[in-house]
Amino acid sequence: MTTTKSTPPSNFIRNMIAEDLKRNKNDGRVHTRFPPEPNGYLHIGHAKSICLNFGLASEFGGLCNLRFDDTNPTKEDIEYVESIKKDVGWLGFDWGNRLYYTSDYFERLYQYAVQLIKDGNAYVCSLSPDEIREYRGTLTKPGKDSPYRSRSVEENIDLFERMRAGEFEDGSHVLRAKIDMASPNLNMRDPTIYRIRKVAHHRTGDKWCIYPMYDFSHCLSDSIEGITHSICTLEFEDNRPLYDWVLEKLNVDCHPQQIEFARLNLSHTIMSKRKLIGLVEQGFVTGWDDPRMPTISGMRRRGYTPESIRYFCERIGVAKRDSIVDMALLEYHVREDLNKQTPRVMGVLRPLRVVIDNYPEDQVEELDAVNNPEDSSMGTRKVPFSRVLYIEREDFREDPPKKFFRLSEGREVRLRYAYYVTCVKVVKDETGDVVELHCTYDPETRGGWSKDGRKVKGTLHWVSAPHSIRAEVRLYDRLFKEASPDGEKDGADFESYLNPDSLETLTSCRVEPSLAGAVPGSRFQFERLGYFCVDSIDSSDETMVFNRTVTLRDSWAKIEKKEQKQK
Ligand code: ATP
Ligand code: MG
Repeated sequence: MTTTKSTPPSNFIRNMIAEDLKRNKNDGRVHTRFPPEPNGYLHIGHAKSICLNFGLASEFGGLCNLRFDDTNPTKEDIEYVESIKKDVGWLGFDWGNRLYYTSDYFERLYQYAVQLIKDGNAYVCSLSPDEIREYRGTLTKPGKDSPYRSRSVEENIDLFERMRAGEFEDGSHVLRAKIDMASPNLNMRDPTIYRIRKVAHHRTGDKWCIYPMYDFSHCLSDSIEGITHSICTLEFEDNRPLYDWVLEKLNVDCHPQQIEFARLNLSHTIMSKRKLIGLVEQGFVTGWDDPRMPTISGMRRRGYTPESIRYFCERIGVAKRDSIVDMALLEYHVREDLNKQTPRVMGVLRPLRVVIDNYPEDQVEELDAVNNPEDSSMGTRKVPFSRVLYIEREDFREDPPKKFFRLSEGREVRLRYAYYVTCVKVVKDETGDVVELHCTYDPETRGGWSKDGRKVKGTLHWVSAPHSIRAEVRLYDRLFKEASPDGEKDGADFESYLNPDSLETLTSCRVEPSLAGAVPGSRFQFERLGYFCVDSIDSSDETMVFNRTVTLRDSWAKIEKKEQKQK
């Protein structure tokens, strides 16, 4: 499979917009928005929405706004605002000068609410939250009119003004749209559009103590910004009649079209912000940017490229029905992209000392190594070779099983870019553990090939012991053992599905000297091992720290297959 950029697969939203343009709807304009609530960090699901909104706008020569949907001050924070801006930018999208906040519209939204009251389309209801719930009815039982539904316009205006002025306690009154308590759509049974919340807002401070509800503020914010296509996820399908009702009753100039698509679900992880906050707060991960998190910041720190995330989002398409995408597909795109971009280096995760007995004590050779066999323009580099080396512990076996083509006593292998070596002696400690190997090298095989054409089956990576740099390497695996930890089968908590082996930290790794000074975030392929990046938080000149971004091959699929067979 190759990933040459071809035309993205078409989808129903793209077709819909193309159709609108054909009919010159919205005077041929396309204007979308990405409207996150700043109550958490963005995750890969948001990336899909970002790619869709910004992508469609750019494809059709339109615009896309970034709008913070900040109407719930109790859960929101400026830290989230900053992280979201950083993540959208890192993904490669530019909102230009179109950064908006719903809170910027609070005064206008208030005036719109007053308009609804004046037109007899909204009323102040003084039922308690419990009573409101009870009066609403159920899917099978119609709701009951609130006794406050027939308040006069004057009384409603007076009460609403006093709500704004802070005269009432939280929960004592709400403003409700006057629609239809018998509607089969529960969203249309006089939904609350304003509530009292005496909490400071991260942008408006104490200016407001009443805040608009999503269903009221969202459609109007879209309208104020001249949005043409308001793309959201499927769970808002039943809110669309309310979206349209508000805009129709207020007779606004711009009436955006709401279009719903299925949210992205990814296997072996969770996407709900509430649960992600739980993981952070209970210390199951080190933070929102823990490389195991499905967040954009976690993926960035782990070494994923923005290109691979964008490409993944495009390839999975846009559907009308919910499904779960396998994490392996995301990893496939990460691998594909890193394969093209990253320089190869050698690093040994679990070092085993090797002494080349017939190599001169003080000699050091600088051998040529290819930086990227996929891209010759990336050139070559020098790697030092000397008498004492490290190889990977698992590349040696005392009793090699069949098909183990690596090193064992008496066997010859190739050291990548260097020489053929033969193991002549195994040194063990008192417990019987192998602590050192002695080898001889064939000086005629410099560069890793032999004139006489004799074959060696194994090629090992290695580093020169005195030249190598000590490093810490963090091996990450799936955060959850279960493919759908969100399912909460048998009533178990999603936390019980956490993979206890999702992080393994190795502290005595050795990497080749060319990695000295590698900048935080830079990415490499460690030959034979996988893709790694310099950790952007914990790596320092004293101790380099590398994160394993992804293995070279998908070992997980194999393991799962085996487990399934055993069941
Ligand atoms: P919560 O987890 O609290 O329900 P949310 O997903 O609604 O949060 P928002 O900040 O409101 O979070 O999301 C911003 C935008 O991203 C919305 O338009 C939403 O539809 C979209 N979005 C959120 N999650 C996904 C997802 N998994 N797949 C696709 N789009 C998503
Ligand atoms: Mg939301």
